[in-house]
Amino acid sequence: MSIVVVGTIGYDTIETQHGGVAEALGGSASFFALAARFFSPVSIVAAVGTDFRPEDQRLFAERSIDIRGMVQREGETFRWHGRYHEDMNIRDTISVALNVFADFTPDLLPDQRRSDYVFLANISPSLQEHVLSQVTSPKVVAADTMNHWIENERSGLIRLLPRLDILTLNDEEARMLSGEHNLLKAGRAILKMGPDTVLVKRGEYGVLLFQQSSLFAIPAYPLEEVVDPTGAGDAFAGAFMGWLARNGRVTESILRTAVVYGSVLGSIAVEKFSVEGLSELAWDEIEKRYRAFIELTDSHHSRWTSQ
Ligand code: AMP
Repeated sequence: MSIVVVGTIGYDTIETQHGGVAEALGGSASFFALAARFFSPVSIVAAVGTDFRPEDQRLFAERSIDIRGMVQREGETFRWHGRYHEDMNIRDTISVALNVFADFTPDLLPDQRRSDYVFLANISPSLQEHVLSQVTSPKVVAADTMNHWIENERSGLIRLLPRLDILTLNDEEARMLSGEHNLLKAGRAILKMGPDTVLVKRGEYGVLLFQQSSLFAIPAYPLEEVVDPTGAGDAFAGAFMGWLARNGRVTESILRTAVVYGSVLGSIAVEKFSVEGLSELAWDEIEKRYRAFIELTDSHHSRWTSQ
C-alpha cells in the first residue's frame, strides 16, 4: 500500500562542532521518502524552485520515489540553516526561508487522493491540513511538527490534532505543545488533544510510544560517532510509516516493530551528512542493523545463542 507525504524539500546548511555542509539536499519530505522507499511505494507532494538541481531530482527518481507531485515553481527552493551544540540533541535554527512553500496550495494527483497512508511531514499546519482534506479515505494519518510551528501556528496545529491517528514530535516539542515538563505527563496530555498514538523522539535516548492504554519505550541504537543528526526524525517516520503500509494493518506488535525499524533508519541517517546515509543505503544493511538492535535489547539473547 502506498504512502503520500507532504513536507519540505530544500537545501540545508548545517554546522556541527566537527564540520559542516552548505546547500545540501534536505527537507522533511526528502528524508522521509528516502527511508520509506525500502518498505512501501512513496509519493511526494512538495514544491521546489527554479534553482533545484537536476541531480537531486534524479536522486529521487532513481530510487523509485514518485515525484510527479513535486512541482517546480518560480522562485527559490526552501532553505534551512542549523547549528548543533556539542550536545547534539540541541540545535539552533540560524535561518529558515520557506520560499516557494510560502503560498503553496497543491492539488493532489488522483492516485495520491486515494492513498491509504498519509504522512504530513514537518511543514506548516495549514499546508498539512490542505493536503489531508484532499485524501478521500485514509487508513492511517500521521503527522510531525516542530517548535517553529508550535510557536507560530499553534491554533492551526491544535485544529489538526483530532484528525490524526499518530503524532510524532521530539521531547522538547512535546513539552512545548503540552505545557508539561515531565514526558509521561506530556505524552498523556497530547493524547487528550486528539491523536490515538503519540511518538516522542528523544534523540540519543530513544523513543516513547504512547497510547491510551499502553506505553512502549526503546533506546536509540548506540553510535560512537554522530556526524549530523539532521533528518533523524524524518527517517524514523519514513521507516515507521513504511512498515505500517507494508503490513497493511496496525496492531500493537506491528506498531512496535515499526518503532524498531524507525530507530534503525534514524541511526543510519545520522552517520553521514545530509541525505548521504540514506541515499547510498542497501536493504542488507538495514536488516543487519535491525538484528543488532534486537540483540541489544533482548534479555534472553545470550541464553538463546548458547543452546
Ligand atoms: P529533523 O532533523 O528531522 O527535524 O529534520 C530536519 C529537516 O527539516 C531539515 O532537512 C530541514 O530542511 C527541515 N526543516 C527545518 N526547519 C523546518 C521548518 N520550519 N518547516 C519544515 N521543514 C523544516
